[in-house]
Amino acid sequence: SKQAPVPPWRRDFPLLSVRVHGQPLAYLDNAATTQKPWQVIDALSRYYKTGNANVHRGSHALSNQATEAFEKARRQVAGWLGIAEPETLIWTRGATEAINLVAQSWGPMNLSSGDRILLMQSAHHANIVPWQLLADRTGAELEVVRLLPDGNLDLEHFRQCLTRQPKLVTLTHISNALGTCYPVAKLARESREAGATVLIDGAQALPHQDVNLEELACDFYVFSGHKVFGPTGIGALWGRRELLEAMPPWQAGGEMIERVSFSGTTFADLPFKFEAGTPNISGVIGLGTAIEYVQKSDRQAQAAHEQSLLTHALACCETVPGFSPLPAGSERTSLFSFLLDGHHPQDVAHWLDRQGIAVRAGHHCAMPLMESLGIQGTLRASFAFYNTHEEAERLARALDELVHQDRTQIETKHADTGQI
Ligand code: PMP
Repeated sequence: SKQAPVPPWRRDFPLLSVRVHGQPLAYLDNAATTQKPWQVIDALSRYYKTGNANVHRGSHALSNQATEAFEKARRQVAGWLGIAEPETLIWTRGATEAINLVAQSWGPMNLSSGDRILLMQSAHHANIVPWQLLADRTGAELEVVRLLPDGNLDLEHFRQCLTRQPKLVTLTHISNALGTCYPVAKLARESREAGATVLIDGAQALPHQDVNLEELACDFYVFSGHKVFGPTGIGALWGRRELLEAMPPWQAGGEMIERVSFSGTTFADLPFKFEAGTPNISGVIGLGTAIEYVQKSDRQAQAAHEQSLLTHALACCETVPGFSPLPAGSERTSLFSFLLDGHHPQDVAHWLDRQGIAVRAGHHCAMPLMESLGIQGTLRASFAFYNTHEEAERLARALDELVHQDRTQIETKHADTGQI
C-alpha cells in the first residue's frame, strides 16, 4: 500500500515468499506458529553438518562442542528473560509440556483435597486440562475467573476468588483466542500476597514483548520456542529455585541422575533433574539463535509496526458488511478474532486460503471461553512484525469479495425464481 513500506525484517524470513494456490502467501496465523529467520534455519543446518553429537558426555571434542552450544543457548535465553541463574530454566518440548511438568511434579506435593486452583476463563486447553487431571488426582477444586463483556478480566471477581485463598493461580499473559494482554504483573503480585503460587503461560507474549522474569512476581513462567521464531519441539519452564529444588523429578532416565544403584538413586542438580534422556539439542541451539535474533532486533520498532498492522487491519475489515470482531479488552496484541455474519468460520478460512491468505478458524483450544461467549468458534488473524499493511488489506478485500459474491448469488437466485 502507499502509506506503509515493507518492514525491513521481512527479508529474513524465506518462507514468506512462497506461493499458495498460485497466490503470494499472506501468513496471518502467527499465533499458531511463527516463521523462522534464515539465521535459525542456518544454525540448524550448520549443527547437523558440523556439530552433531550427544551432550554432557565429555569424552570427545564434538560432544564438548555440542554441550557448550547447548548451554550457551540456555544462557542466551536466560539472559533475555532477565533470569540470573540459567539453571532455573528447564528445557521442555514447549509450553504444554512445561505446564504438565509443574502439574505432575509440584502439584501432588503441594495440593490436597479441598485446595483451590484458580484458572482464567480464557485459558488455553494446555493451561486447563493438566490442572483438571491434577484436581482429579488430589481432590483439589478448580475455580474460574470471568471476563467482562469488554474482554477485560473481571478484577473484582478475581479479588473475590483470592479471598478464598487458592494454593495455585494460573494466568495467561496474552490470550491466543482474543489477543488480550492481561495485567499479569499486578495479578501475580496480588496472588502471591494472598499466599498463592503463580504460574504464567507466556506462550503468546514473548513473540511480541520482552519480559523480565525477575521483575514479574511469578513462580513459574512457560513458553514455546516455535511461537518466538525458533524450531518446534522446544520450549521452557522457568521456576523459582527453591520451588524447583523441592520438586521431585517427573520423568526418569539418563542425564537426570547423579548416581544410580539398585538400592537407590540420587538426582542431578538443576536443571538436569528435570531433563531426562537425550534432549532436543538442535532445537535448543535453534531457539538460542532465534532469541539472539530477537535481541538484536529493534523490538520497539517491531511492536509499533505490529500495533499499526492491528489498527489498519481492523479499520479495513470494519468496512466489510457483517464483520464483527470479538471484544479484546483495553490492552491487546496484534491479533483479532472475528465472525462474519451468515458465514461459518471454516468456510471463510477456506475461501481465504484459496487466495493465499492463512488464518485460523475454530475454537483455538479455548473451548470454555467459546462456551462463555455462546459461540462454537471464530476466525483469527494474527500478525507478526514481518507482516505488511498490504496483507491486512488483502484480508479485508477477500472478506468483502466473499460477502458481495454471496449477495450476488442470492440476488441471482431470487431473480431466477422471481422472488426479489
Ligand atoms: N498457551 C497458549 C496461550 C498458546 O497459545 C499455546 C499454543 N497455541 C499453548 C499454550 C500451547 O503451546 P504448545 O502447543 O506449543 O505447547
